[in-house]
Amino acid sequence: MVSIDYINEYIRNTIKKNTGILLELEDFAKENHVPIIHPEVAALLKVITLSHKPSNVLEIGTAIGYSSILLSSFLEPGGKIDTIDRYELMLERAKENIKKANVEHTINIIQGDALEVIKCINKQYDMIFLDAAKGQYPEFLPECLRLLKNGGLLISDNVLYKGMIANDTLVVRRKRTIVNRLRIYLDEICSTDELETSIIPIGDGVAISYKK
Ligand code: SAH
Ligand code: MG
Repeated sequence: MVSIDYINEYIRNTIKKNTGILLELEDFAKENHVPIIHPEVAALLKVITLSHKPSNVLEIGTAIGYSSILLSSFLEPGGKIDTIDRYELMLERAKENIKKANVEHTINIIQGDALEVIKCINKQYDMIFLDAAKGQYPEFLPECLRLLKNGGLLISDNVLYKGMIANDTLVVRRKRTIVNRLRIYLDEICSTDELETSIIPIGDGVAISYKK
């Protein structure tokens, strides 16, 4: 969490709670330490998806399918999500969950290393949700820009990384490389002429970038 605790707690207690399978997955994730998006980020993604109305979404980092299932109910009718993960065990769970949520026709799982997979994709997306290995974000960026339509949104999770990005005294030694790479990523998405970016300190930090 990168925001002040009491503010975060207030937001969390005030926003609408999920029900059904999403609630079940939130409980599962908590018990099994699966790093799904935080509730505040889920609420933001809902609003963005509802207002942006994407038909094609690319997600990098499926885990148990939580964010995919969440997004799937807010797409344009007939909309699709391609979601990538390399972790087979997680994907087995994701497949079960996606089936249980009755959205297997909406969500297409691609198993493999995201960098290799995205290099082979030749399709344009209205929205890309980047939520995988933080140290790889700078490498993902050129491919994400290639795959994102003009007028599309790139949403990047965990960009403030437990506060370490903004405050050197919080950086633990073994995270130094990830921190440096995330800083490079944020500098790039904020300075490129192709994007307009906003960084929001909810959850673990979310960046929303609009491709001009
Ligand atoms: N978006 C999910 C959470 C994703 S957690 C949700 O909110 O519900 C991050 C996931 O990214 C993990 O399951 C991990 O296996 C995957 N991942 C990390 N780096 C990856 C890479 N280079 N290629 C494919 N998957 C990757
Ligand atoms: Mg995340």
